[in-house]
Amino acid sequence: MNSTARECCKHNPFYLEPVSRRPYCKDCFPLLIESRVRKVLRKYKMIKQGDHVAVGVSGGKDSLVLLDMLRRIIPKIKGAQLTAITIDEGIAGYREESIECAKEMAEKWEIPHIITSYKELFGHSLDEIIIKARETGISLAPCGFCGPLRRTALNVLARRIGASKLAVGHNLDDEAQTILMNMLRGDDRRFLRYHRTVEGQPLAKKGFIPRIKPLVYVSEPEIVLHATLLGINYHQTPCIYAPRAFRNKVRNFLNDLEHEHPGTMHGIVRFHDRILQISMIKTRDSEGPPELVENEPPLAESLSTCTTCGEPANGKYCNACKILNLVGMLDPEKQIRK
Ligand code: SF4
Ligand SMILES: [Zn+2]
Ligand SMILES: [Zn+2]
Repeated sequence: MNSTARECCKHNPFYLEPVSRRPYCKDCFPLLIESRVRKVLRKYKMIKQGDHVAVGVSGGKDSLVLLDMLRRIIPKIKGAQLTAITIDEGIAGYREESIECAKEMAEKWEIPHIITSYKELFGHSLDEIIIKARETGISLAPCGFCGPLRRTALNVLARRIGASKLAVGHNLDDEAQTILMNMLRGDDRRFLRYHRTVEGQPLAKKGFIPRIKPLVYVSEPEIVLHATLLGINYHQTPCIYAPRAFRNKVRNFLNDLEHEHPGTMHGIVRFHDRILQISMIKTRDSEGPPELVENEPPLAESLSTCTTCGEPANGKYCNACKILNLVGMLDPEKQIRK
């Protein structure tokens, strides 16, 4: 991805773009960010005519910058529409404030906004699940519970409102960290499953709403700058359950590298893009459906339906029900998520 698409007027530069080493002024910087997002949307054909895009909005900087960006872009795509969706995990002293930020901005921008909670979808808040896990002596970190539950919750809510795409605010830093974490864990399945194009997501056919990440080439410092320049009121307090140990180590390592060698994170994501493109070409050339991992059955085909809640599952339970089952909180009566 060429991040130098837009030139600055060179009037009062205040930001040095790390890849091109070009300076940008306060007026041209937001245009640079928007041009990068538009380019990603075009390159990966993320949004097409008639799409209903659900945007996962937590009230943090990434999701609100994404919502702001898409509210400018979507009206120019014929028949496309936007809905903000928010999941309340049930984290006392943290989530209430961020939901207020999400509500405030969605209202200000006149975007329909739907909120649901883990309590409604799974019968328990994250706080309750964490307490139970600690009582039971399960050592999984809170994010290990929260991640699969949130992915399921966003998917269910997006499907409920009839969305055809689910946009999430993962930025360049998140993406580079995830790619490196998958490499460090030797998790080739996840590494190759991580497609940015909709056609590269065969799981979409099995009840998953295709996910798009339009901010994938915008770094975290750029998002902070962009939100500040545009006066976006976002929630700044970190989650009480953060930090996540492994991701934090990878984050610190990458931040150090980026500081010493600007453009490192762009390089990792670009490299990953190339690998995915090669794997797509390979799978298109071969007969039959795309295979994500050589010599293994395609994940889309190995998917079944969760016996408890009906969500897509790899085995008897979906990931959310596996989590609830682990802590002894799986109640089939409360697991209907249509
Ligand atoms: S930091 Fe972890 S626990 Fe907190 S909202 Fe994010 S994934 Fe959930
Ligand atoms: Zn300028
Ligand atoms: Zn389930």
